[in-house]
Amino acid sequence: MAILLDETNDAKRTSWVTSANGHGDFPIQNLPLGIFSVRGDTPRGGVAIGDEVFDLKAASDAKLVSGDADKAARAASNPTLNELMALGAGPRAALRKQLSALLAAGTAESARAKPLASKLLHKAADCTLHLPAKIGAYTDFFAGITHAENGGKRRGANPPLSPNYKYVPVAYHSRASTVRPSGVPVRRPNGQRVVDGEQLPTFGPCLKMDFELEFGIWVGQGNAWGEPIPTGQAFDHIYGFCMLNDWSARDIQRWESAPLGPFLSKNFGTTISPWMVTPEALAPFRIAQPARPEGDPKPLPYLWDEADQREGQLDLEIEVLIHTEAMRAKGAPPQRIAVSNTKHLYWTVAQMVAHHTCGGCALEPGDIFGSGTISGPTPENYGSIAELSFDGTKDITLANGEIRRWVQDGDDIYLRAHGRRAGYASIGFGDCCARMVAAK
Ligand code: MN
Repeated sequence: MAILLDETNDAKRTSWVTSANGHGDFPIQNLPLGIFSVRGDTPRGGVAIGDEVFDLKAASDAKLVSGDADKAARAASNPTLNELMALGAGPRAALRKQLSALLAAGTAESARAKPLASKLLHKAADCTLHLPAKIGAYTDFFAGITHAENGGKRRGANPPLSPNYKYVPVAYHSRASTVRPSGVPVRRPNGQRVVDGEQLPTFGPCLKMDFELEFGIWVGQGNAWGEPIPTGQAFDHIYGFCMLNDWSARDIQRWESAPLGPFLSKNFGTTISPWMVTPEALAPFRIAQPARPEGDPKPLPYLWDEADQREGQLDLEIEVLIHTEAMRAKGAPPQRIAVSNTKHLYWTVAQMVAHHTCGGCALEPGDIFGSGTISGPTPENYGSIAELSFDGTKDITLANGEIRRWVQDGDDIYLRAHGRRAGYASIGFGDCCARMVAAK
């Protein structure tokens, strides 16, 4: 499972694509994978570099990549990356090494290839970004322990966490067909809910719309049905990461969830950032899983792996911003309303994979997991508006004087993530943004 740092992570490496140098999200040390099209042409695989997108199919056609890297580039020539993801880590890492050398300033490879390679770049502003993979299944975990505790407190549970929480990486099967990339508006759902002050449900638009600040995990190589993936091998089955907003209709959720959990409150839409940030790009930001508080149980043996405990967590700053209609009309920038970190997750992504498959469930390339809402210990770290507004009982006053207790129609909600570590280039995930629009 060791992901080694190499020359592709070298902070001193710069690119002849000058917009990449010092870029907030996509310097040459990142090179995330995605699916793009230009002015309605055929979607295909690309790599983000600065303010440009590098065309992988064209790079393969032009013989700019070779060996395993070319195998990866050819697999990425389709309108989805599932075929590439099925190839696993080796071809992905080979492609990254060759692209990094090709796009770097001052290497022999780039001197040779630049005249041709520079023709295979498209301005990101001219590109449409699509879902990077055909998603077969979407599982949403609940690994943010503070969010789980805050939810229990809102429901009046005492103690707030269920007795299983510290043993089981809790999850539910969510809906793959309604996951959309950043930029696609999401419509407020109608459903059954009990309006405050009423006793019985009525049917109508959700009145308590929420976002959830989550980390998304893409599955690469799957496993055969009946063959669990051990925790120590689980990271090898992860292809990349994104940010994920698990839009949540809290009033519908409250009424429908007993006893089988969320259903229509979650299945109307999920927004993800369209670039897949690879394990190789995130290697500098891997950390040990923080020690559990005194008195918490040690994970059961099938969820315990020494190497996973040593380097299986990620240190990424994640944030939520709101951009209301009034802010946009005034030309004001989005306002940050929460900041948290992936290190607050109670389980590692390897433990999620191992638990998901321990009973024999087969994962497939293109499956996606949500981590669960990643709240931190203090209110400014809360990753949902239900937590920030204490279940709609407390005003959130924005800088322009507007007040929110829930998400309103016309609000753009942005999720962002960045890895920052002294001695390394900072990288980001790009936007995960969608506008909430009025119910039909
Ligand atoms: Mn969720």
